[in-house]
Amino acid sequence: MSVTVTRQDPRYKALMKGHNLRFPANPAEGVDRIVLCESADDAAMSLQAIVASGLRPTVRSGGHCYEDFVANNPGGAILDLSLLNTVGADSRTGEYLIASGASLGEVYTELYKRYALTLPAGSCGTVGAGGHISGGGYGLLSRLFGLSCDWVTAIDVLTVDANGKVVARRVDRANDPGLFRALRGSGGGSFGIVTAFRFASLPKAPLEVAEAMLEFPFDSMSEEQFVALMTAYGDYWETRGRDPDTWGLFAVFEVGARSRDRPLGLYVQFCQPDGTANDLSVLHEFFDRFRAFSPSITSPSHHAPAKTQKSPAGTKNPPAPYTVNVRPWFEATIAIGGGGGGGSRGKYKSAYMKRTFTPAESKTIYRFFSGSSKAAQSSVISIDSYGGAINRPQLASETSIAQRGSVMKLQWQCYWRDPAEDAEHLRELDEFFTAIYTGEHVEAHHQGTPWGDRYEGCYMNYPDADMLRYPFWPQLFYGQGELYPFLQQVKNTYDPNNIFHSAMSIRAK
Ligand SMILES: Cc1cc2nc3c(=O)[nH]c(=O)nc-3n(C[C@H](O)[C@H](O)[C@H](O)COP(=O)(O)OP(=O)(O)OC[C@H]3O[C@@H](n4cnc5c(N)ncnc54)[C@H](O)[C@@H]3O)c2cc1C
Repeated sequence: MSVTVTRQDPRYKALMKGHNLRFPANPAEGVDRIVLCESADDAAMSLQAIVASGLRPTVRSGGHCYEDFVANNPGGAILDLSLLNTVGADSRTGEYLIASGASLGEVYTELYKRYALTLPAGSCGTVGAGGHISGGGYGLLSRLFGLSCDWVTAIDVLTVDANGKVVARRVDRANDPGLFRALRGSGGGSFGIVTAFRFASLPKAPLEVAEAMLEFPFDSMSEEQFVALMTAYGDYWETRGRDPDTWGLFAVFEVGARSRDRPLGLYVQFCQPDGTANDLSVLHEFFDRFRAFSPSITSPSHHAPAKTQKSPAGTKNPPAPYTVNVRPWFEATIAIGGGGGGGSRGKYKSAYMKRTFTPAESKTIYRFFSGSSKAAQSSVISIDSYGGAINRPQLASETSIAQRGSVMKLQWQCYWRDPAEDAEHLRELDEFFTAIYTGEHVEAHHQGTPWGDRYEGCYMNYPDADMLRYPFWPQLFYGQGELYPFLQQVKNTYDPNNIFHSAMSIRAK
């Protein structure tokens, strides 16, 4: 049975917004109703009723959308799937099934406890499977196992035909293969409502992981030292990080405001390809790259230390003076997952990088974070390791993620609370991003964006409406090849009335 929440309902105020409190910008831009569905049949009937009454449906699973694609729907209806959250095996077909409303925390917990399996997916436990897997899905195990969408073998989806009739489909390589590919990575909200993702197999969950936090004092670091550190970090992923024995190594380097109480933090997690942490030589070799920058190495602050291991004497790498914590993978995954913040206003941007940083990029970053602008004080760039199993070339044509050559993925996150400060934060962050991608390192006709032989554009799960000012924004997100025209064709076929649309949805041809 679905539950409908209208403006008069006491739950309305809490449920009309998602994770990013910027949207809707005011009550008039919000929906008139939220329809909570707990089964695929509920979703089909509710969608049919919404379409028949001429309202615009927007779809929500975990509510973590960065832009206004869901909550900004004046007088329309949010179809909310968060109660449709089963994770398990389908006894009829033998497939593993993840319903769209399941949170990543539920996905990790259920798959691990029931089957000792996992899905390579994002770090935040409250992100919903529906939006996340539709847009790719990347996390700590992705270098080892690929993206979430790479593992999907069938999808249950509701589309609306030219006559306004809701059609329930199971799509896979043999049935509606175009729609199947489109739903694996192009982002949610363009073609229909996914009610479940299906998997013929899933990877075995690692037994354990080694974790460490490297911290570099930022306030006393010169621009020259910062450039050298950024180059060294990027260089690892561009060179050594390509080797399969390193694919179990994940790192995220967080660069924010330069101040005495905010060191630069580099969180590292590692397991060998067999899921154990018996041989840490890859990890210690990684640490050794940063020895010249005198980091302090601690157990990550939000983690309780478990077992401590030193680099083993007698291995081909000499013992390093670093200690790391080794603990069960599941424990680490749940601890990192947290609640994902929320309760604030946010703006996000992204860039895929195929090479290490240029000095020009690093200097722009250093100068911005040395300044006192509002955005400098309230932003961070998360520089994630990338590549490994993600970069298997055949996946570019099997899925809708074109970016299969990058070695790092960058995410800008900026948070504040006061609506009166929206414009200033948005402008400053936008100018910062534009400045990084302006110069000789960027292709001449695409200045201001991550375009050229060093870059692979942006990630649709980190949508950024600022990019709409560039006529080539679809190529930034979907690459310069056949993918975007293909997605437009799928849009024509499966959503002929453009029922499912937002500022950055796929445009019909
Ligand atoms: C705190 C936080 C941490 C994050 N961490 C990561 C990370 O580690 N890795 C990563 O890759 N991404 C990460 N993301 C980005 C995240 O993957 C995207 O925001 C994702 O789209 C969120 O999905 P959702 O279902 O929670 O959001 P929603 O707001 O519900 O949906 C997002 C988009 O997908 C559409 N959609 C949702 N459900 C469906 C459905 N069932 N069928 C069709 N369309 C649908 C919506 O209409 C909307 O356009 C993070 C985001 C946040 C806020």
